[in-house]
This record gives sequence, structure tokens and C-alpha cells, in this order.
Amino acid sequence: MKRSTCKICHFSVKTCVCDHISNVIANKTHIVVLQHPSEVTAAKNTVRLLSLQLKNIHIFVGETPSDFLDAQAIAKQNHCALLYPGENATALENITSKETRIDYLFVLDGTWKKAHKLAMLNPWLIELPRISFSSAPKNQYTIRKAEQQYSLSTLEACAYFLTVYDTMDPKPLYKLLQGMITEQTKFMPPHVRERYLDNDDSA
Ligand SMILES: [Zn+2]
Repeated sequence: MKRSTCKICHFSVKTCVCDHISNVIANKTHIVVLQHPSEVTAAKNTVRLLSLQLKNIHIFVGETPSDFLDAQAIAKQNHCALLYPGENATALENITSKETRIDYLFVLDGTWKKAHKLAMLNPWLIELPRISFSSAPKNQYTIRKAEQQYSLSTLEACAYFLTVYDTMDPKPLYKLLQGMITEQTKFMPPHVRERYLDNDDSA
């Protein structure tokens, strides 16, 4: 049976997040998401939340350089950086928008493994200046606990970047993320929901 999908947020009608969307944010630094194909249909697609709440976001789905020709064109023509950890990465907390110009921030959306694969398959990405976090907020996203122990959700990573670099107010993004978690857990039996929502404090 085909489940019906909300025409605005594209989540299933049962878990529609439209009530949680705030006024669209005109983020100064554009976000460019390279999304692994397996993430597109994931129920917990936080990139979709970003696209509902941010004005300046560009999403490209694929794996190989030929999938990302438009993204490469952006990278060639603009001041860009890649959000990705590594020895050569500069800590976001150590730069300012006055000294270091970033007009487009590239982020990789996928599990840690898939993001790593995307980076390996796309050497042009690794040539971009790299940004990492030296301290980041606690992971708020409890649904995909096992995978997210290693990294923040793409939404949280972008929210944190825009908060520090753009001095943007991240509340609408976190509100939307919490809204999605609420919608997706409201039909769970209480004991299952507790397992999802009440975990990370002991970790
Ligand atoms: Zn909706």
C-alpha cells in the first residue's frame, strides 16, 4: 500500500512536520548538501527539514564526480569550504567571517561511512578548505542513536555552523527537528518511545 505524502513537507501525512515550520531563514552563508542516495528516502531525513527552513540551500544527490557537476561549478566560482574533520581542517571556533570568507559551505549527508565514501570518491571536495568543530553542541537527535554517536545530524551540524559563523538564531531549526522527532515517535508504544528519547545522558 502506498502511503500518502504531504505535498508541502514531503513527509508521510501521519508524520507531517508542517506545523513545526517557522518563517524561512535567509541564511547568509549558502549550504550545499551532497546527499548520498540512500539518505533521500530515509524517514529521518534532516536535510529535508533544512530545505523547509533555510532559504539558501542547494541539495545534490549522488556519489561520483559526474553526479555533482553543478556542485563542482559552485565550488569553482565561489569562496567555499567543506565541513569535514581531518588534520588539515580549521576549527570553526577559531575563524571569523571577517578574516575567512565562506560564501558556500559544503556538507556531506549520510552515515559516517557513506560520508567518508563520498569524500574519497570526490577528490575535488578534499581540495576545498576544510572546516571542523572543536566543540559542538550535544546531539539532540535520538532516533538514529547508533549512527549518530559519531556525528551530529546534518541539520544540527548546519545549525551550529550558521550560529557561530553567521550569528544566526538556530531556534527555528531545532524546533523543526524536535517537531519531526515528536511526530515520528507519537505512535510508538510508550516503552519503545522511552528507549528512543531517553538514552544519551548515560553515554
Ligand atoms: Zn507537511
